[in-house]
Amino acid sequence: MKTRYDAIIIGGGHNGLVCAAYLARAGLEVLVLERRPVIGGAAVSEETVPGFTFSTFSYVMSLLHPKIIRELELRRFGLEVLPASDLFCPVDGKDFLLLSEDVAKTQASFARFSRRDAETYPAFARHLEECAGLVRRFLFETPPDPARGDLRGRTETLALLWRHRRIGRGFHRLVDLFTLSAADFLDRWFESPIIKAVFAYYASIGTFAGPRSPGSAYVILHHVMGEHEGAAGWGFVRGGMGAISRALAESGKRFGVAIATEAEVAEIRIRDGQAQGVVLADGREFQAPIIAANLHAKLLYERLIGARHLPAEVLADIRHYRTLSTAFKINIAASAPPAYTAFDPERAGIDYPAYVHIAPDLDWLERAFDDAKYGRFSARPFMTPVVPTVRDTTIAPPGRHVVHLFGGHAPYTLREGNWKEAKDRFARTVLETLELFAPGFSSHIIDMQVLAPPDIEAILNLPGGHIFHGELAPDQLFWKRPIPGYADYRTPIRGVYLCGSSAHPGGGVSGIPGHNAAREILRDRRWRRLRS
Ligand SMILES: Cc1cc2nc3c(=O)[nH]c(=O)nc-3n(C[C@H](O)[C@H](O)[C@H](O)COP(=O)(O)OP(=O)(O)OC[C@H]3O[C@@H](n4cnc5c(N)ncnc54)[C@H](O)[C@@H]3O)c2cc1C
Repeated sequence: MKTRYDAIIIGGGHNGLVCAAYLARAGLEVLVLERRPVIGGAAVSEETVPGFTFSTFSYVMSLLHPKIIRELELRRFGLEVLPASDLFCPVDGKDFLLLSEDVAKTQASFARFSRRDAETYPAFARHLEECAGLVRRFLFETPPDPARGDLRGRTETLALLWRHRRIGRGFHRLVDLFTLSAADFLDRWFESPIIKAVFAYYASIGTFAGPRSPGSAYVILHHVMGEHEGAAGWGFVRGGMGAISRALAESGKRFGVAIATEAEVAEIRIRDGQAQGVVLADGREFQAPIIAANLHAKLLYERLIGARHLPAEVLADIRHYRTLSTAFKINIAASAPPAYTAFDPERAGIDYPAYVHIAPDLDWLERAFDDAKYGRFSARPFMTPVVPTVRDTTIAPPGRHVVHLFGGHAPYTLREGNWKEAKDRFARTVLETLELFAPGFSSHIIDMQVLAPPDIEAILNLPGGHIFHGELAPDQLFWKRPIPGYADYRTPIRGVYLCGSSAHPGGGVSGIPGHNAAREILRDRRWRRLRS
């Protein structure tokens, strides 16, 4: 294996692979170093139970940007998205709400709970789409630093304002999204707490917040800004989420990207404030003037760069970066999928609800957060049960099912005891909650893997186990992600960049941080060439 490259990517998560492919496409010799035996990070497919392939972490796709799919030709390399069913939200044992692409169908289910809300829904859906459009405008922006007083800071900030000068009243909508709670945002539209919960649910996903926490309105948008078809834009990937990472790797390989697994980077070599290369935990060394880190910003700054190379205020900012997760994932091999008592194929107009939200009203979500606030796992967790095998029969033996349960809250730090002791009790609580809506499901479980935040942290080397590499809160978004002054994918070290989810626009399988980081790396390279 060569030891000198134009660029090294630390971490073979999907963002690292996107960054690698774009750099290689531009002619650079690129090496990806991944710590695990498999590439993909949180976008992997793994056969943890013989015959059953799980999307161990992320489990549905919506955010992967069409520009990236098109430019890297991911369909040619095997990416196939299968639409999930309409989103099915059981309210109790007898009734349900649906969120469907078909507005009339959604309205019909809403009308059973509030005629007024059903009438309001089309205008709300338009408003949500307009807000999503506003957020989408900024996805491919490199956040400037408005506090930087020099010519570059001023020009970049003014250029951003100029590009978005026609935003008009959209500006006030954006301020609302970043400051309002999900509940306040939804109160403007709906009266029924059951209907509000359908949307407020998105604000709780992967976030240490409840629907009444200020700023949580933005997290709804983060989940609905994808541009794909299917249940609220979410779909399954044939072969599991790892198929995305495999397609990205294959796309990169045709431009010469080299990938090494079981290659954990222990240190970035730095001389006179410039990156020289990396040292692996097993002692191997690789040289490159460009290092793009796909791993969490805290690890990059505190471990791989190290305090001695960083100003004190940068270290203080990164220390305060909030990244303690409350999200859990349970991967189940089952002989039958959950059978919801509220589900009636005729009334719902779908053959089976493969994509479900369990949180029957707003207070359910808020109470789940209350528990977490005081260091307990939720007595009644909210959760998303999905059954990809309804669409994709390649991932389980015939007649058997893969069931993913994702939800919250399961605080990283428990006030009493620890996760080793608490895990069985927690898994029982989750299954008992599911059984309120789908009795008897537990008897169909063949095997299961329970992942609390410390497990996710350990497997992915992800501080706090945070699914988005850090909270998606107003103080950690755009020009403050991950820290003020370094939201432009650069770091205080020349040649070291951040290309993972702790960079703008944050987590989710979108590929955008990797794309944007590659663009900035290539921009700096062009400048350096011009100057020399
Ligand atoms: C449980 C869970 C459920 C989720 N559900 C969804 C979902 O359904 N849909 C969705 O869009 N998003 C979901 N997400 C979020 C999404 O999966 C992540 O935000 C995204 O995959 C992160 O991608 P990344 O490439 O930025 O980082 P990662 O995927 O975290 O990749 C970082 C890589 O760096 C490697 N690494 C770490 N340290 C080192 C080192 N020292 N040397 C070398 N390599 C190293 C890691 O092993 C990893 O492969 C979920 C996440 C989790 C954890």
